[in-house]
Amino acid sequence: SNLNSTDLNSTSSSQDPSEDKLDSTSYQTSEDIEVPERIIDQIIGQEEAVETITKAAKQRRNVLLIGEPGIGKSMLAKGMAELLPPEELQDILVYPNMEDNQNPLIGVMPSGEGKKVVMNYKMKSKGQEEKKNMFMMLAITLIMIVGFALNQFLVAIIAAAFVFLALQQMKPRSSIMVPKLLVSAENKTTAPFVDATGAHAGALLGDVRHDPYQSGGLGTPAHERVEAGMIHRSNKGVLYIDEIGTMKPKTQQELLTAMQEKKYSITGQSETSSGAMVRSQPVPCDFVLVASGNLQVLEGMHIALRSRIRGYGYEVFMKDSMADTPENRDKLVQFIAQEVKKDGRIPHFNKEAVAEVIREAQRRAGKKDALTLRLRDLGGLVRAAGDIAKGENANVVTLDHVLNAKKLARTLEQQIADRYIVQRKEYSVFKTEGTEIGRVNGLAVIGDRSGIVLPIAAEAAPAQSKEEGRIIATGKLGEIAKEAVQNVSALIKKNTGTNISKYDIHIQFLQAYDGVEGDSASVSVATSVVSALENIPIDQSLALTGSLSVRGDVLPVGGVTGKIEAAAQSGIKKVLIPKSNMDDVFLEDRYKDKIEIIPVETLSEVLEHALIGTGKKGLIEKMRRVTEMVPKGVIKTPTI
Ligand code: ADP
Repeated sequence: SNLNSTDLNSTSSSQDPSEDKLDSTSYQTSEDIEVPERIIDQIIGQEEAVETITKAAKQRRNVLLIGEPGIGKSMLAKGMAELLPPEELQDILVYPNMEDNQNPLIGVMPSGEGKKVVMNYKMKSKGQEEKKNMFMMLAITLIMIVGFALNQFLVAIIAAAFVFLALQQMKPRSSIMVPKLLVSAENKTTAPFVDATGAHAGALLGDVRHDPYQSGGLGTPAHERVEAGMIHRSNKGVLYIDEIGTMKPKTQQELLTAMQEKKYSITGQSETSSGAMVRSQPVPCDFVLVASGNLQVLEGMHIALRSRIRGYGYEVFMKDSMADTPENRDKLVQFIAQEVKKDGRIPHFNKEAVAEVIREAQRRAGKKDALTLRLRDLGGLVRAAGDIAKGENANVVTLDHVLNAKKLARTLEQQIADRYIVQRKEYSVFKTEGTEIGRVNGLAVIGDRSGIVLPIAAEAAPAQSKEEGRIIATGKLGEIAKEAVQNVSALIKKNTGTNISKYDIHIQFLQAYDGVEGDSASVSVATSVVSALENIPIDQSLALTGSLSVRGDVLPVGGVTGKIEAAAQSGIKKVLIPKSNMDDVFLEDRYKDKIEIIPVETLSEVLEHALIGTGKKGLIEKMRRVTEMVPKGVIKTPTI
């Protein structure tokens, strides 16, 4: 095997994937897989981003990372901090300003020096204190001796107490003011990484604490109340801000100023606080900004800040899946080893368990020949399986543990979908047997990949208005339904001679749940409408999904695996899916025998499977002829 630490370390700086290939046959458990030392080498599947970050670290450039949550954005930022030279790290001190109290002074020195300076001051101040104490002791002793000699005990004691109090009182005046170590880089072997996600202005830019005794001269000196902000603590390192667009525009503006100046004065952030009167000398804040977010979050980003990054840095659009290749599978093996090591409490995975996690990565990618890169979630599965194994005192995680974990570690959306299925079964909202006119079991997705059965009912009645019939669709999915009907109306007219516009068509999504994505409901809508118009019943033991073109082609949709599983779980026996989605199906074993998957390419095929009874045959015959008559490419085929 070429899997040893020197190999990984020596190739880690290069990005050629073939060089750090793991030989997938060479391990017994994930323990045998070497985990790279550097964070940047632990990042899976984001080669382009890694390359950019590496380059940006060399040039100290800012970076904007765009992508979904949990794909390694903060990991990249941490990895970048490791790449920055630690030799440049600095200690920052804040000193009292004798001339102008409210304007504390700032001192910068190499890391480790700051503490020494503070110690020096403390020693001096302590020396002075000691001198004072000695003097005090001497004075008291003298008074006592004189008192004894003169037999005036009471007077002596009173005099001693007086001297004691007087000297105590003098303390603040005479003692040396010790500077405060604002930012310490002592003993740091890597440049700082500071995560400022969601930080308010004070935490980000620094603050000066309020002092209620400030006016009386009894208070804490201003310099001691100065607090460093994250921009200062990330000096010479990386400042990471996720969801940058949610930060207040004013704060973003200030952040931009700090980036440009590379130093930023600290002042009290609350206007009503006495801290607001204090303003320090500019404090170094020479950080590299790594900002991130998804595309929507970008909209909230301050334009000047964005263009600053554009002009002086890099923008990377990150991936949420990678190709399903042996090399990339090996990377997932490394990922599992990493997660186990990072967790520190769970056992390693055997080969079957690893294989199941990889299968889950395929399933979650939701498209063919891909592996998901939403690795935070996948890491959750690894830990859940590890916890189960640990609970059983097993010394290795096996296939069963992973399978159980998948049942337990269901996302919120999946749990909602589960409950939804149970509830609807109880109220028999959907049927899984028999036939019915105008009613079809559609399939939809909630969240990013949880399927649900979404029954659709259509009714057709002669139009009430003379000019033309209406399409009445209720619920949030109404628009999609209308579009779907319009798309098929030409088809239906040609096929059946039925002019849809002579009818009022009511379409209802039965108990549509709030976050349902309806893009894939158009085949189902069309089926229920045809059934209602033609009075031909639909098989209720069947469910379907697919997008429909105006030509009658069934186009691919997302989330097929989750949809099929939801159908199976609901007791449905057959499911129609777009043929082009067949490679995206990764069913859990427990569903495999429960449901038959039928690939379909055209609406007539859909109807052939979905409709039942005597009227069906003639309709489909006609339909097929018409579909074939329409020359390809003449009619645009929009995807709904
Ligand atoms: P993001 O910042 O994109 O939301 P994080 O970087 O915080 O995601 O990732 C969270 C965790 O998920 C990481 O600590 C790591 O365990 C795992 N992870 C996410 N993406 C990757 C990746 N590309 N390679 C390796 N591990 C990853």
